[in-house]
Amino acid sequence: MTAGDLRVPLLEVFSSFQGEGPAVGERQVFVRLAGCDLRCAFCDTPESFPAPGEARVQRAPGTPGDDLGPNPVSVSDLAAWVVALDDPRGLHRAVSVTGGEPLLHVSAVGALADAWGREGLSVHLETGGHRPDELARVLAGIDRVTPDLKLESATGQPTPWAAHARTYRLLERAGKALAVKVVIAASTPAEEIERAAAFAAEHLPSAPLVLQPVSEVAGAGGPRAPGLADLFRLHATASRRHADVRVIPQVHRMLGAR
Ligand code: SF4
Repeated sequence: MTAGDLRVPLLEVFSSFQGEGPAVGERQVFVRLAGCDLRCAFCDTPESFPAPGEARVQRAPGTPGDDLGPNPVSVSDLAAWVVALDDPRGLHRAVSVTGGEPLLHVSAVGALADAWGREGLSVHLETGGHRPDELARVLAGIDRVTPDLKLESATGQPTPWAAHARTYRLLERAGKALAVKVVIAASTPAEEIERAAAFAAEHLPSAPLVLQPVSEVAGAGGPRAPGLADLFRLHATASRRHADVRVIPQVHRMLGAR
């Protein structure tokens, strides 16, 4: 795919540390695309929908203050901003494409992945795991994917089991899953996490299952974060059904990073 005249709604581009999952601690460039078709009760980026009028673009790693530019942005420009931000070249282990739900913009994601691949940048994709058709269109150009498993008790919406199954099988065949991420809350029922663990082990056995404690959003009235006793309980339950279950919190929040 080529960038051509494509445009895409963008929230922000910035350099930081990966704060989630097995790649935690890696320096990455984050490209947060705007727009999401889900409405998780624990959402930490509700500002991604609708797309803001202006996108924020960091021009040099480790510096405060972003440039603001009108949305949607040119995909060619976005590809170049990311390459320029990787200064010195090789500072970042990957470009992380996140959202919102990036697969709502599948043509743009495909063109961006191809452009960054030509520059030798590794491309990681974070997705809700509910858009397998779009994932199939871009997967060849993407190096690693972290799909979610959306628990009904935490999102407030029915779990898209069929779409998750197709997504996971696609990733298993391609060998490109970094992990399956499940956000858990104090109220997560044992039966639900057990079903989720069995489901992940069946459809994507090569990937670890990451239980990510929900980060409470002040004043949002979302789910409560699990305590340590909850984490031990839910980990033990999931481990009955899955061989590699890990508890990893959002580390960037502890660092005060975005
Ligand atoms: S998928 Fe992500 S961006 Fe969309 S509502 Fe859920 S947490 Fe928010």
